[in-house]
Amino acid sequence: MQDDALLDRRVRLLGAASPLFYRRPLHLVRGEGVWLFDAEGRRYLDAYNNVAHVGHCHPHVVEALTRQAKTLNTHTRYLHAAILDYGEALTATFDGELSMLHLCCSGTEANELALRIAKASSGATGIIVTDFCYHGNSAAIAALSTAFPGPEGIGANVRSITAPDPYRQPDGAELFGAQVQSAIDSLAASGLKPAALLIDTIFATEGMPSVPAGYIQDAVARIRAAGGLYIADEVQPGFGRTGAHMWGYQLYDTVPDLVTLGKPMGNGHPLAGVVSRAALSEEFGAKTMYFNTFGGNPVSCAVGLAVLQVIAREGLMENARKVGAYLRAGLRKLADSHEIIGDVRGHGLFVGAEFVTDRAAKTPASDAVRAVVDGMRERGVLISRTGRDDNVLKIRPPMPFSAENADLLLETLGDCLADL
Ligand code: PMP
Repeated sequence: MQDDALLDRRVRLLGAASPLFYRRPLHLVRGEGVWLFDAEGRRYLDAYNNVAHVGHCHPHVVEALTRQAKTLNTHTRYLHAAILDYGEALTATFDGELSMLHLCCSGTEANELALRIAKASSGATGIIVTDFCYHGNSAAIAALSTAFPGPEGIGANVRSITAPDPYRQPDGAELFGAQVQSAIDSLAASGLKPAALLIDTIFATEGMPSVPAGYIQDAVARIRAAGGLYIADEVQPGFGRTGAHMWGYQLYDTVPDLVTLGKPMGNGHPLAGVVSRAALSEEFGAKTMYFNTFGGNPVSCAVGLAVLQVIAREGLMENARKVGAYLRAGLRKLADSHEIIGDVRGHGLFVGAEFVTDRAAKTPASDAVRAVVDGMRERGVLISRTGRDDNVLKIRPPMPFSAENADLLLETLGDCLADL
């Protein structure tokens, strides 16, 4: 009843188009670690929310936030050690040449700024992305977010290449690089040059394909040969989620020119940023003034530093590696008895399971995935779905997710599969 009233108020105020998860929306009131609690006190295992990276309401992060909020919160036009302590700790986790930092408040803003830096440096305007990507919601970023095109459409300066899909196309490596070349040629035919290749290094929206390093190395070599930069969007895979590395781009052994960060960076506090090769930021700074009122304020920096400390102290990257592998092994075991699971993939605690109605034809089983996601929610485990056909289970829990939590997820998934 209470939820129906909330829903009515919400539709009136935010509109019916404002997205909500699940057939029966959830009314959450509290979070702790990997657990979320609804208004009736029911507990849900959170296997979806990467924003609460180190766990919901982590005490160390909350304490850092409140301590700084009680002391001072201004902006970056005064000297303050917090941004330096945080920035030094953060950039130390990147490959050496990525040494400068700009802080802002959302992944969208980070991508906006990275594009401006790339355009200023290359003197070009062309952008190459995949054909089913999401990078944010501003005018310039919506105009290249091919998965959810807005009424304004995709920009005349944007070219898209087919997202890699080694599950369906195991020999596609050359094709990926060749498509980057075709996109560069197509820009040239319109009198444009490429400023950047922008990719989400885990291809989350694209359905989390397992992309061999050669695909990216080839693509990056081609964009650089044409005078453009490589921007790695780490909004989804960053901060150790892949288990093997702190950053998703490290899966491909190719260092980007610019890296954009968001979501998990502040554990729910709006903190995002761009990490760059120093020469690029210096050049951009010489051409224009960039200031972001909220980005990099002392409270945000205290939060960001606390998040990095928890990742290190609690060994969360190693946990992601171990529990992620355990979870994938469990999913593969389920696939032995459930033909509908066509592929299990991912890195660390970024796990995908692609559902197909027919393993030979690999026909997407989108309805089944929707039913499973809703069935899991009813049974108290939160996951979601992704990919071009919405037929990939997306499992991306807070990083303290344990093997015991994975067992509960697998058992619940087994029940949902039995019900299909
Ligand atoms: N890049 C990627 C890969 C994303 O998934 C998102 C958000 N889902 C963004 C950028 C935009 O981030 P924000 O919503 O913080 O603007």
